[in-house]
Amino acid sequence: MGLVGNREIRAEGTPEAVWDAWPGLHALTAVDATTLLPHGCRAVVIAPHPDDEVLACGGLMRQWTDAGRDVVVVAVTDGGGSHTNSRRWTPTTLEAARRAERQAAMQEMGLASVPVLGLQLPDGGVTGTEAALHRALTAVLRPGDVVFATWRLDGHPDHEATGRAAADCCARAGLPLIELPVWMWHWAEPGDPRVPWHRLARVRLDPAQREAKRRAIAAHRTQVEADPTLPGHAVLPPWALARLTRDHEFVFV
Ligand SMILES: [Zn+2]
Repeated sequence: MGLVGNREIRAEGTPEAVWDAWPGLHALTAVDATTLLPHGCRAVVIAPHPDDEVLACGGLMRQWTDAGRDVVVVAVTDGGGSHTNSRRWTPTTLEAARRAERQAAMQEMGLASVPVLGLQLPDGGVTGTEAALHRALTAVLRPGDVVFATWRLDGHPDHEATGRAAADCCARAGLPLIELPVWMWHWAEPGDPRVPWHRLARVRLDPAQREAKRRAIAAHRTQVEADPTLPGHAVLPPWALARLTRDHEFVFV
């Protein structure tokens, strides 16, 4: 999957049972969705790939819309790079499939009315097109926005490039940025010194939101099902999904 600095995404990563057994995870500060997104503010969720918005903050988005807040998703890529060498998919057919999966997933989350702004930058190549991402974000952001982006040190190059561009745009525009870990749960370990745990907070999902999130993730079929023309397991195998379907979502505040 990738290596950025010392944040390597390989093998099965840290098992969910190890995370769950760590008291530090359960001791993280609890925060409300509406505290993160005050009344009158709009959430701008910046997702490097189709599925990141649901994996990182599907429950949060649902809590915001239930509270009458505005949400918009910025879709950085259409995910055409997840099945290299597949005989079933070309990057173009995969992108079309993944756009449809994203819409189906948003519908499962009860978020069909949330606008998705597609930037169509290259999957796997966001680092090389960071300037274009920067321009697009600058055009989207407006006063009153709270920006939610993948963590700058998440370990996947596209996630880190997205976090960096978001951080720079927010700093210039004077907007708050909240970063979301996704692949961190794979490469990090409980108490890992590479993670600023003191900044990490958690938002509780109710059982219905958690179930909707499970259905939404299942709608990303290209990611949760193995491609028979490729060796190995699905992009999001059960051990990865176990870390991303907890009864909480996590934010760096
Ligand atoms: Zn991603």
